[in-house]
Parts: sequence; C-alpha cells; structure tokens
Amino acid sequence: MPEGHVIHRLARDVAATFGGGAVRVSSPQGRFAEEAGALDGCELVGTDAVGKHLFIRFDAPGAAVVHIHLGLIGKLRLHPLAAPQGAVRLRIDDGATAADLHGPQWCRLVDDDEVARVIAASGPDPLRDDADPAVGFARIHRSGKPLAALLMDQRVAAGVGNIFRAEVLFRHRLRPDTPGRETTARTWDTIWADLVGLMATATDVGRIDTVFEEHSPAVQHRPPRVDPHGGEVYVYRRAGQPCLVCGSEVKVAPLEGRNLYWCPRCQRRRNVARGAS
Ligand SMILES: [Zn+2]
Repeated sequence: MPEGHVIHRLARDVAATFGGGAVRVSSPQGRFAEEAGALDGCELVGTDAVGKHLFIRFDAPGAAVVHIHLGLIGKLRLHPLAAPQGAVRLRIDDGATAADLHGPQWCRLVDDDEVARVIAASGPDPLRDDADPAVGFARIHRSGKPLAALLMDQRVAAGVGNIFRAEVLFRHRLRPDTPGRETTARTWDTIWADLVGLMATATDVGRIDTVFEEHSPAVQHRPPRVDPHGGEVYVYRRAGQPCLVCGSEVKVAPLEGRNLYWCPRCQRRRNVARGAS
C-alpha cells in the first residue's frame, strides 16, 4: 500500500499538470462512465490529500470532487497521452498528458461536505499544515497497544505506513512494543517532528530515505540499497541483514497482520531521553 507521501505527490503532480485548464474526463473501463461524463470538459481547479485519500476538484455543478483511495493495488500514473492500457477506471487528459487510474479501492464522485467529513474523520497528517498532532497523542495515550501498532492507525498519524513506522522508531532507538499509554508526550513530539520532515522529503524526492549521513552508503563504503519499496532505510525489509548501526541481525515479526522490522539491540528505549530533541 502506498504511504502518504505518494498520495501528496500525486496531488501535487495532478494539480501542476492539469490545474486551471479544461480537461477530458473519461472511464475507458466503463465503471466510472456516468460520473466521468458529468465532469468531462470542465476545468480541473485543484487537488487535496489527507492520509491515503486523494481529492481532485472540478469546476462543475453539484458533486464535483473525485475521491480516490488507491488501497493495496491501485495506481494513478501520469504519462504522455496514448491508448489506455488495461482496465482504466478514470482517465483525465488535456490532449497531451493523461492520468490513468487502475484498480483503486475507491473512486467516487463526492461533494464538498463529504470531503470535509473525510478530512475530519482522518487522524492528523504530518504532510498537512492544519494537522494537530495532539489528536494523535490523545489516542496513543489511552491505548495499551504497542506503539508500533498505533503508528499504523490512520487516526493517530494519517499517511504513515509500514516503512515510516519502522524507520521512525529505529531513528529514535525506540522499542516497538512500548504500550501507547507509557509513551510520553516528549516521545510523541519527537516522532511527529521526524515524520513531518521524513514525509516532506519523501514527497519531494519520490522515495523514502531515512538513513542519516553517517550511515549512508558513501560513508559506510557499502553498495546502495536496491529495493522498489524505498531508498536507504535502517530496518524495513532488511530482516536477517546486519543492522547498519550495530551489526546485529535485523528482526521481523508480524504485528496486527503486517510485518514489523526492528533491531532489538539498538531499539531498547521506552521513550526518548530527557532533553533529547
Ligand atoms: Zn542495531
């Protein structure tokens, strides 16, 4: 499943490519044909994103926002205009570039009230200026679940997925199994601030890099990591490999149905140290 930076990057790309102009809207596959017909020829006025939800707004009467959730396998790709490949649920094109949507969990036409409801129901998104991290901490603080599980809860931190949760815990040497209620406000503030920076960079670059310079391939004289899921990371999908910091074996175990990666030797803290930033 794409993490939030992918959705925010798509929102940015769709707005930059089509924003302010009239576009053709279609559903080559047919399942969104009626809704697409209502938007065809309208101006694409802007985009928005929260967590893993993408909104594309058109200048049309009534419901004029396409609400997309890619789910596990959905893809939205921009490319030079060409014949549709495969089952394209939604196509937006300006005669030169097409954005094609395949296999989304949701693609539906909604009004502004529904957009507001989705945003209000979402947890704070580190990539949104209006995010309130205190909402996430309130949820953490009343839960006995492990912090690693809570970080995947979209009501705690919207857009955070398996990579960001594993990496942010490693970067602060935090035990993944610390119960939420034992997590201090200082620890949450540290995690939140780091997520804001990591996710903003990932949005700009288009991949997730979490490794500090001192552990980079250049400094450690090791080959760069090759993995379609991310860039330089400490633990994500590195089970059985040596930890980049201590050399001991990175572990993996299922947690609430998703693989959790961590280094038991490095990640021993229940909270960030007093005075740590
Ligand atoms: Zn380690």
